[in-house]
Amino acid sequence: MTDSRTRAVVAGASMAGLLAARVLSETFDRVTLVERDDLPAEPVPRRGVPQGRHPHGVLARGVQVLDELFPALLEELAAHGAVVGDMQQDVRWYVDGHLLRQQPIGMQGIGLTRPLLEDRVRARVLALPGVDVVAPADVDGFVLADGRVTGVRIRRGNRSAGPQTTDVLPADLVVDATGRGSHTPAWLESQGLPRPAEERIDVGMRYTTWVLPRRPGDLGGDRACLIGATVARPRFGAALSVEGDRWIVGAGGYRGDAAPTDLAGFRDYVATLPASELCELVSDREPVDDPHTYHFASSTRRRYEQLTRFPDGLLVTGDALSSFNPVYGQGITVAALEALALRKVLAAGADRSARRFFRRVARLIDVPWDMAAGGDLRIPSVSGPRLLRVRVMNAYVARVQAASAVDAAVGRAFLLVANLTDPPQKLLRPRFAASVLLKARHAGPVAAPVAGSGSAVGLPRPREVSPAEAVGAEHDRPLRER
Ligand SMILES: Cc1cc2nc3c(=O)[nH]c(=O)nc-3n(C[C@H](O)[C@H](O)[C@H](O)COP(=O)(O)OP(=O)(O)OC[C@H]3O[C@@H](n4cnc5c(N)ncnc54)[C@H](O)[C@@H]3O)c2cc1C
Repeated sequence: MTDSRTRAVVAGASMAGLLAARVLSETFDRVTLVERDDLPAEPVPRRGVPQGRHPHGVLARGVQVLDELFPALLEELAAHGAVVGDMQQDVRWYVDGHLLRQQPIGMQGIGLTRPLLEDRVRARVLALPGVDVVAPADVDGFVLADGRVTGVRIRRGNRSAGPQTTDVLPADLVVDATGRGSHTPAWLESQGLPRPAEERIDVGMRYTTWVLPRRPGDLGGDRACLIGATVARPRFGAALSVEGDRWIVGAGGYRGDAAPTDLAGFRDYVATLPASELCELVSDREPVDDPHTYHFASSTRRRYEQLTRFPDGLLVTGDALSSFNPVYGQGITVAALEALALRKVLAAGADRSARRFFRRVARLIDVPWDMAAGGDLRIPSVSGPRLLRVRVMNAYVARVQAASAVDAAVGRAFLLVANLTDPPQKLLRPRFAASVLLKARHAGPVAAPVAGSGSAVGLPRPREVSPAEAVGAEHDRPLRER
């Protein structure tokens, strides 16, 4: 980045790109988003975000940041039908087969479809002075001059609707927010620069999702039910109440264990989950839509902070930097926290901004990455390094989860960490740990190790990073996109 802050260009106008643009608009005269999709005028799923058809929860920390960046967003979402409620009182969290004690935690959650969230955030961002969007247009690569990125090459128009025209957008700063399929590693290589190392946890998650009508009294008025996998039954389920008086219900498993796409088969599948709520919801009503599936091959982390040669003027954010097993619901919250990190880096000036940004967000990503990786590595079929600290922490988290079933205060502490509101170290304080070990005994036997649950917690890591599998780039493909 130069000292000039005339124009920033953001590649990709999904959640991470929009959040980055929001922050960039504070310091750049002009911020241009470039998006491949023809952006819809209504909150409907779109081709470039196939995961948008599946349940999306936002962690409590993410809700806080969204509310900070977009004042009164929660009220606006609620006015569009989103279901706002308490994260502990109104949600049934099943972790390792234990139902967390329900009581108010004072953290707000929102139940809504992913397209509604993006639609409202996009409306807010595009209303900011100096922010515009070029869509549909493909970002084709970056312009490199004297070791720094000075613009993006784009192809305007819809690639399936005829010839595209090429163009260059000059920029003082370019942010890649094009998601898991980001071409930045390949582009770096094409310029004779090193690619970032990549860490991967191969989870092979299969999602099958249905939308169902919601009736008064469903789940006793609770607004969501999240059922984590266990080692004995490595399958998850999620039911979120969303706008339009609907439930969005997803279920699936690890390493290709997919829930069927016929209703009878899906009903049988959810009957095998460690809790019965989803079964109750899907057994007595017809869905409002066909099912949708998604294959998420691996949690993937690109280690840009380790590169010794990287052009200034270019940053990478969101899923393009790290994407996590979706059952932990972390992606949007991490993108929001990266936007706050970007704000801090911009405030400190232009000098070595890429290096400072990647180092800062690497520390930020450590926590959710360890949570997701730790939880996933409890599942025997998931491959990856099971270091001693991961095994010890998983055994301890199993006891925290068990104690959460009998002690609402333990559940609260656990949820604050799982929602990225508190650091994991809080669960290790001696008095808290002693109470956990005592209470866990009253919750019945602990099945150790315990499956990831959409709310696992990782051990605070020593500064040296675990040797993870370095593998080549891969892109998951939705199995079916209707
Ligand atoms: C099944 C599933 C469920 C999930 N559930 C949750 C959840 O419950 N909670 C949560 O927080 N997160 C969840 N996530 C993750 C979440 O969807 C992402 O973390 C979040 O959308 C941020 O992604 P992003 O903006 O970085 O990338 P994406 O959402 O993938 O967006 C990338 C954007 O870039 C555009 N693009 C791509 N290439 C180009 C190009 N060359 N030129 C121009 N534009 C381009 C695309 O069209 C798209 O708009 C889930 C993910 C999956 C797969």
